[in-house]
Amino acid sequence: MSSTEQGVKKAADLLRQGATMLSDACPQCGLPLFRLKNGNVVCPNHGKIYLVKSDEEENKVRKNITMDQVEDILINNLYYFSSKVKEDPNDVDSVMQIIRYLDAIERIRKVK
Ligand SMILES: [Zn+2]
Repeated sequence: MSSTEQGVKKAADLLRQGATMLSDACPQCGLPLFRLKNGNVVCPNHGKIYLVKSDEEENKVRKNITMDQVEDILINNLYYFSSKVKEDPNDVDSVMQIIRYLDAIERIRKVK
């Protein structure tokens, strides 16, 4: 029996024991990982696995997504006020808003 076949057999055993299949794959053999009822994550071939995805990394990803969303909102508002200035070039309030949004976008890009 090949190691892949063994892995598949073990994976079936894990499922029977109530483990859930995860979307992550084992970095060494590529088989799907399983979460046991006790919370441990295991590879059918390699046993217990410590996922590379740490909380810190997850926070970083979440932070980037938030920053991107904020930037999108700022850019949308920037478009809105630029169209107002296009209609009325003397609309000083809108010009001030554009400057504020540009400043905010620049700041958020520095943080990213
Ligand atoms: Zn593995």
